[in-house]
Amino acid sequence: MAESCLFCRIVGGEIPAEEVFRTEDVLAFRDISPVAPVHVLVVPLVHHDSLSQLEDAELAGKLLLAAVEAARCENLLETGYRVVLNTGRDAGQSVGHIHAHVLGGRALEWPPG
Ligand code: 5GP
Ligand code: ZN
Repeated sequence: MAESCLFCRIVGGEIPAEEVFRTEDVLAFRDISPVAPVHVLVVPLVHHDSLSQLEDAELAGKLLLAAVEAARCENLLETGYRVVLNTGRDAGQSVGHIHAHVLGGRALEWPPG
């Protein structure tokens, strides 16, 4: 765990978050400032700065499948959803612990800003 990392602290239960589900590898929880009716974040329990630092293919697969599971939990499979991994400055990544946004519950625009 990276002590100063916000999402490590959420994973560790030090900072409260509304959990959607947890596995032995990932935690899914609600974004504090949702930008869609459903806005869930999925993070690995182990700290990785961003997608660019994630070399563990198995964990990458688990993260992606957990995003689908979050969509399933939120009843988005039929209507659709978007999975976003903001990576680095130009993408607007604001928390340096890899996280997948799962967004849905309304028609999402494309392209993003
Ligand atoms: P990023 O901008 O890095 O792609 O996404 C970070 C996300 O984390 C943002 O959508 C932001 O609202 C969310 N976030 C920031 N701080 C907290 C927090 O303390 N709790 C929760 N649940 N989400 C947070
Ligand atoms: Zn972390």
